[in-house]
Amino acid sequence: APPAIPDAYYDDTPLPLTPAHNTSARANATILMLARNSDVDGAVRSIRELEDRFNHKYQYPWVFLNEEDFDDEFKRRVTNIISGPVHFGRIPHDHWYQPAWIDEDRASAARQKMMDDNIIYGGSVSYRNMCRFNSGFFYRHQLLQQFKWYWRVEPDVHFRCDVDFDPFRYMEDHNKVYGFTITMYEYLATIPTLWETVKEFTKAHPEYVKENNAMNYMSDDGGTTYNNCHFWSNFEIANMDFWRGEAYSKYFEYLDSKGGFYYERWGDAPVHSIAAGLFASKDQIHFFDDIGYEHNPYTHCPRGPGAWERGHCDCEVQKSFDYDGYSCMRQWDRIQ
Ligand code: GDP
Ligand code: MN
Repeated sequence: APPAIPDAYYDDTPLPLTPAHNTSARANATILMLARNSDVDGAVRSIRELEDRFNHKYQYPWVFLNEEDFDDEFKRRVTNIISGPVHFGRIPHDHWYQPAWIDEDRASAARQKMMDDNIIYGGSVSYRNMCRFNSGFFYRHQLLQQFKWYWRVEPDVHFRCDVDFDPFRYMEDHNKVYGFTITMYEYLATIPTLWETVKEFTKAHPEYVKENNAMNYMSDDGGTTYNNCHFWSNFEIANMDFWRGEAYSKYFEYLDSKGGFYYERWGDAPVHSIAAGLFASKDQIHFFDDIGYEHNPYTHCPRGPGAWERGHCDCEVQKSFDYDGYSCMRQWDRIQ
């Protein structure tokens, strides 16, 4: 049985569902947003769009997480526009804040250096907390234990097309682990030792590396160096049991023990992407061409035959990020 759900949450009584969208056809999934109270306007905009474009037909539950308590305004405004159940959770202290064993002198020197070098979020501790939480903790939150699948949504993103299919069911039915819409290069300055650390881990644990993996998407030389390609993790549809599994758990533990979330500025995007690329087979990673998605400043707009018309998309395919100079779609294509 799923564990009891603590503190504040709102659970609507089950709504009448049409046969096409009945509960038994639904996947064990939730839509997940990490947000601050101050993100409420952007959160409401993202939720409104995803409800209109997708979720009013399926009524998947939403989960909101925050390291502080959500305030009444956030809960009220969000609950007002969601078609199904809504859960609000607080992140346990130790899943969020910089651990005591991190050498703060070393961490603050690294932040200062990255600030001097004008690296985005280089001086931010809270951004690092967020990246570490998204890398290794969100799927352990009590509210998420009952779910297998999640769709990560951020405040102020845009869903540019109708989603007339259930992406969770698609993942489930096709044995997928990780789904993305945008892939690009990571700033090397934020992850200077990440790849070497990953190589140490896989050398010690070759048993976790899947055959037929996506290494050649991430590396141009068979794994010696990282080409910095990753899936942009502000959009993710993925299987939390993959993160909960032994390979990823050991991998995160090893990475975390090196302190790179604080001594550098490791992002959850490369941390997730490299794991999906190594511990899953390449056909377990799915590019959701049909989902029109925008996170400033980039948009993925569907280019598959008829997809743009079918989805009543309001994006422009010519401006899609897919084959932009900074995109890693070419590296993705070459392993297909
Ligand atoms: P970016 O997309 O890399 O520029 O980072 P964002 O500022 O969009 O943050 C990523 C996600 O984490 C968003 O869902 C934010 O709402 C959330 N987030 C970022 N920092 C914090 C924080 O300090 N506390 C909480 N609760 N959420 C945060
Ligand atoms: Mn963002």
